[in-house]
Amino acid sequence: MSNNLKDHKQIGQELELFFTDEIAPGAPFWLPKGMIIFKELEKYIRELTENAGYLETSTPIMVKAELFKQSGHWEKFGEHNMYNLQLSDEADGNKSVSYTLKPMNCPESTILYRFRPRSYRELPLRLSEIGRLHRREKSGEVNGLLRVRQLTMDDAHIYATEDQIFDEVSNILDMMISFYKMFGFEYEFRLATRPETRAGSDENWDKAEKALSDALKKKGLTAGDKMGDGAFYGPKIDVHIKDSQGREWQLATVQLDFHQPEAFKLEYTDSDGKPKRPVMIHRAIFGSFERFIAILTEQYQGAFPTWLSPSQVTVIPITDKNNAYANKVADFLKKEGLRINVDFRGETMQSKIRDGQTQKVPYMLILGNREEEEKKVSVRTRSGKNLSGISQDEFLEKVKKDIDQKA
Ligand SMILES: [Zn+2]
Repeated sequence: MSNNLKDHKQIGQELELFFTDEIAPGAPFWLPKGMIIFKELEKYIRELTENAGYLETSTPIMVKAELFKQSGHWEKFGEHNMYNLQLSDEADGNKSVSYTLKPMNCPESTILYRFRPRSYRELPLRLSEIGRLHRREKSGEVNGLLRVRQLTMDDAHIYATEDQIFDEVSNILDMMISFYKMFGFEYEFRLATRPETRAGSDENWDKAEKALSDALKKKGLTAGDKMGDGAFYGPKIDVHIKDSQGREWQLATVQLDFHQPEAFKLEYTDSDGKPKRPVMIHRAIFGSFERFIAILTEQYQGAFPTWLSPSQVTVIPITDKNNAYANKVADFLKKEGLRINVDFRGETMQSKIRDGQTQKVPYMLILGNREEEEKKVSVRTRSGKNLSGISQDEFLEKVKKDIDQKA
């Protein structure tokens, strides 16, 4: 981190967004203001996936470990990277049974798929899940929100026929591009191919790698190579972004998987009435909410775009006499859905403006006698621009436009 830039842990404390505590190493506590950012991102990703035809689901956090033995994760990640508990329950005849906190959602997604027989008419079936995962990162590697042991993933699994792979992967790539452009990140695609230790036949790996590279090619995208860096069940395209300080992060991923549909014997009835095996496509856009919020916090140095700002407008009455008018303006804007706070403290106007700037509030409304008489507002942005004597409606329109553009 260069000298005058703060890291997300410091900004998180100063702006009261989030923190970590020794009582839960590697798992963040979200303060009310940080939770606003989290929820806005959640709302955004829900809209994005709903518009793309995904159906939202939720699966249990604690499951019997046998599921991860069947999927192959146990062998790969083993006891050292998963949180395991031995429990005895009456339902299991008081035998000791191993349970685990899920480190990923995939195997449980296959249980949703198998809930009932599936027809080719339902494919592609796009099941999304904002799932809370636990991974046993080494304590030396745990770092604020960047590397955590408890993370929230914007996950999805698509069940498709082989013919549908190209369209599905293309749509996901489009989603990723528009997403990263919106946040102004430079991005780069990387194709990660078969690792040494892997599940599934070479024939399936050939097919899967070719499908991903075809999708990239046909979209005119070039991808760097991550030879041998695929998941154990299939190849993937990872998106790497560069943050404001030139650091590189891997966030989004799309993975093709012929292995788990086989391991879990997933089927659909095809148009000829015969049972066929679907392909599974895993994808995430944020990757982890925690890491993404850490990167955004450092990228913007706490000055989040208006749609994400915990407080969007601070109303500052110049003297006590203007308090009633300040309340009236604040109520009007609150009813329109903006996040407003009114600074009634007996401080000078200058010091209230300074505090608004320290808190990185995008807009401050300065309300004195003149504004009250003319029924207008004077605006000061956090970057120091002034706009005096505009109507409440004009101001509202300006902020709403800012929020809609997510700029
Ligand atoms: Zn998955």
